[in-house]
Amino acid sequence: PLLALLPGADLDDSAAIAELHRLHALQRAAFGADPHPDAATRQGRLAALAGMLLNHREEIRAAMAADFGSHPDLFTDLVELLGIAGRAAFAAEHLGTWMEEDRRFSDPALYGTARAGVRYQPKGVIGVIVPWNFPFDLSLGPLVEMLAAGNRVLIKPSEYTPASAELLRRMVAETFPEDLVAVCVGGLALAEEFPTLRWDHLLYTGSPAVGRLVALAAAENLVPVTLELGGKCPAILTADSVDAQSVRSVVGTKLVKNGQMCISVDYALVPRERIEEFAAHAERYLTDELPDYASSEHCTGIITERHLERILALLEEARAAGARIVSLGGEGDRTTRRLPLSLVIDPPAGLRIMNEEIFGPILPVIPYDDLDDALAAINAGERPLGLYVFSKDTAVAEHVLRATTSGGACVNVCAVQGALPSLGFGGIGNSGTGRHHGIEGFREFSNPRGVVVRGTGDLADAFLPPYGPIAQAVVD
Ligand code: NAD
Repeated sequence: PLLALLPGADLDDSAAIAELHRLHALQRAAFGADPHPDAATRQGRLAALAGMLLNHREEIRAAMAADFGSHPDLFTDLVELLGIAGRAAFAAEHLGTWMEEDRRFSDPALYGTARAGVRYQPKGVIGVIVPWNFPFDLSLGPLVEMLAAGNRVLIKPSEYTPASAELLRRMVAETFPEDLVAVCVGGLALAEEFPTLRWDHLLYTGSPAVGRLVALAAAENLVPVTLELGGKCPAILTADSVDAQSVRSVVGTKLVKNGQMCISVDYALVPRERIEEFAAHAERYLTDELPDYASSEHCTGIITERHLERILALLEEARAAGARIVSLGGEGDRTTRRLPLSLVIDPPAGLRIMNEEIFGPILPVIPYDDLDDALAAINAGERPLGLYVFSKDTAVAEHVLRATTSGGACVNVCAVQGALPSLGFGGIGNSGTGRHHGIEGFREFSNPRGVVVRGTGDLADAFLPPYGPIAQAVVD
């Protein structure tokens, strides 16, 4: 009965499911006919992807605003458009090197002049399941490395972003033949069907709970998966770094998409004696620079009324438990689902805001007395997707990096590990497995095939029966 409440649950997906199977079969056949596109072909596809984005700027902005109720246009341009186009340009530039055979050692005494190496071969047909929070970046972004690696791709957007999903479907259909890249739009039944197909690789981005279901469904066919999941990313401020710039970075990152970002700061750890200073800097940032934040164009709407209710319930629980809550950035606007920022300072233990990923504009500010105790508390939880440390002392920052484990990390800034096209991006444990972006993405979506080409003067026949003088010579 709960599933019936989800958007898309009432859609009749039978036509969408039939279309999914048709496209999957079509792409498999096309891959069989052309399994190794050359570098120039791949670069042409990447250029087409970048051009597609640049040609649809106004429509992408409008779709994001429609899905979120409110979404800053410049941020849409930066991430959902230019970020992906830049990533495509980066991949196209480096593709020649990425595709090169990675030569490996083979012992000349045993294998003579044999040539050994890892050759990166396209995997085949890849499925992509996309969440609602970055509908273009989390579909077309990984598509960059998938195309760079020579694959064919089917994308399934989230049912929470119908405007973006429809635009994505139309843009992709206009730009690529459907046997190369296509978008399948539908509801929950389509989502459940998607991971059951025999993909050559499957990328899922979304919550750890659904990620587990996807991984289980994929395991049925032994389909390799990349899981880009979520969790609670901490920001740790050390005593020398509770200043305007660090606090602006931490609080400003929480305001990006109003907290609806997987690598957002989930909570801040602050030396106990600097807590008031942290709150004062946060207040000054919003008062000086974003006084009407929650009714301004800078504030992203919460994706649905149901998600908004959840965030309000988290706050209500904290308030009822006697937590000190500082609301910043004005009143908010219910029709566009915009909410102000709430700092929850030194919350009592056991609240939901400290047990689940917040994914909204609530920032718990947690005091600590000893840095290593704070790190031990992080390590006692699930491994985060991102971890941010602020310190003017390089040795302290390095200590924090060495003492913790996370998918990515930043020193004196937040979330930039997800923005660089050159840096592999992903989680560890509960925050995910596998990488996309850059060469790590290219390799993730390639089959690293170990190839040996026999030369001359080898003793390779030593391994073949009958085991006589050649094998004896090798053993001796
Ligand atoms: P969501 O509800 O849009 O779901 C994600 C996708 O899963 C959708 O396409 C949906 O149709 C599909 N889905 C739902 N039920 C399914 C099922 N039973 N089987 C197969 N597919 C199914 O998004 P969400 O899960 O609310 O996304 C938010 C979460 O995603 C947060 O935890 C966030 O941290 C995480 N996230 C991670 C990254 C990353 O790169 N690691 C990026 C963005 C978001």
